[in-house]
Amino acid sequence: MASPSPLLQPPPSSPDPSQHCTIKLPLSFPKKPQTPLFLFVLFLAISSAAAFVFLLSSSSSSASSISPEIHVGSPRARALAKLRRPVVLVVSCDGFRFGYQFKTPTPNIHRLVANGTEAETGLIPVFPSLTFPNHYAIATGLYPASHGIINNYFVDPVSGERFTPSNHDPKWWLGEPLWETVADHGLNAATYFWPGSEVVKGNWTCPPRFCPKYNASVPFEQRVDTVLSYFDLPQNEIPVFINLYFEDPDKQGHQVGPDDPKITKAVVRVDEMIGRLIQGLEERGIFEDVTFILLGDHGMVGTCDKKTIFLDDLAPWIRIPESWVTYYYPVLSILPPTSVSYSEMVAKMNAGLASGKVENGDYLRMYLKEDLPGRLHYSDSSRIPPIVGLVDEGFSVEQARTNNKECAGAHGYDNALFSMRTIFVAHGPQFQRGRKIPSFVNIEIYNLITSILKLKGAPNNGSASFPNSVLLPSA
Ligand SMILES: [Zn+2]
Repeated sequence: MASPSPLLQPPPSSPDPSQHCTIKLPLSFPKKPQTPLFLFVLFLAISSAAAFVFLLSSSSSSASSISPEIHVGSPRARALAKLRRPVVLVVSCDGFRFGYQFKTPTPNIHRLVANGTEAETGLIPVFPSLTFPNHYAIATGLYPASHGIINNYFVDPVSGERFTPSNHDPKWWLGEPLWETVADHGLNAATYFWPGSEVVKGNWTCPPRFCPKYNASVPFEQRVDTVLSYFDLPQNEIPVFINLYFEDPDKQGHQVGPDDPKITKAVVRVDEMIGRLIQGLEERGIFEDVTFILLGDHGMVGTCDKKTIFLDDLAPWIRIPESWVTYYYPVLSILPPTSVSYSEMVAKMNAGLASGKVENGDYLRMYLKEDLPGRLHYSDSSRIPPIVGLVDEGFSVEQARTNNKECAGAHGYDNALFSMRTIFVAHGPQFQRGRKIPSFVNIEIYNLITSILKLKGAPNNGSASFPNSVLLPSA
């Protein structure tokens, strides 16, 4: 099942001056040669040096494993000071588009970045870049086609049943989320509003003391303080995996788009909550022990009503009843009756869209699901509808024309778009300080966390080599 993402590249080596000891040679030279004897000695010295350089370069080319630098010790994982075993705390800020951290001073996020490891150009979501498919991909290491949550809302084409985010029936939620992996090892896990966490699976029962039921009105401060209180438990009861969810700044992003003072305010507030967590951990003397991962599920892009494609405009080519559409945008999902020829429908829709007669038609392209680009990993599930439309960045799809002239924000688009990226910063004993790693897809996070916790994880779509490329070797 493991299939390394084509977007994944090995991280560059980024030397940390504080943790390397390089032997230096003196570079001073006599300023004024005084005698012919000195010139002769100098000639001999230069000749010897040239011969040495030649030997060195020839030996380097024949033995490429010889490092040109001499290191005394390389960075190693830091030992735990107070906790008895590793603990991973994952904080998700919904819709935290990569780059929001530069909108305004974010001293607490910056502190994690400066002392931790960061995806330099952001974390890549899975497609569709929506909340439930992505949070559950982070938790399971699986693409949505494998973990089953292929959209926030969808209709199972086989059974005709509807999925909504508040549905906790285990039959929808496939794969093995981290909290289940932890519980199956006889250890405590704690979830705070993470999508899918209320679903009973394996030894995970969503225990009341570690798994509050979703309630958006619970203040962020209360969420943070509850999580901090877990660290006051006896050592053997402290959950080894804890996650925490904030709805911001996604909520504001949908209302006003990513470039608005409301977003800046929301980012400030999220940073304050990160600060509250850090302070609470410091007061308990465990900030350096806890692995603190800050991430998001996807980014955000501005939308405007003038950037809309209306399905009714395709009527001269094909009529698409509203009842066939299970989701409009950014993933146009169509489930027609089986009496309809799917390929004929796709051809007619694309003919209309490419005709130049449909407003914004160039910004939507229809596919049979099996013909979608392979990089999206969005074909291999009976839950994915037979006909899928890819909508270009910032565009919307609606059934009928309206006179709305509003602008707002959305996500869910192609996960290759930079605007869909989110933040990833990890701070803790096994993460090198101040290190930047290339962007990666969030399905890698499951293996990363099971590696830190030293637990055997379930099979997943992440690559087995990813954790070793990111984590410091054990001391
Ligand atoms: Zn979201």
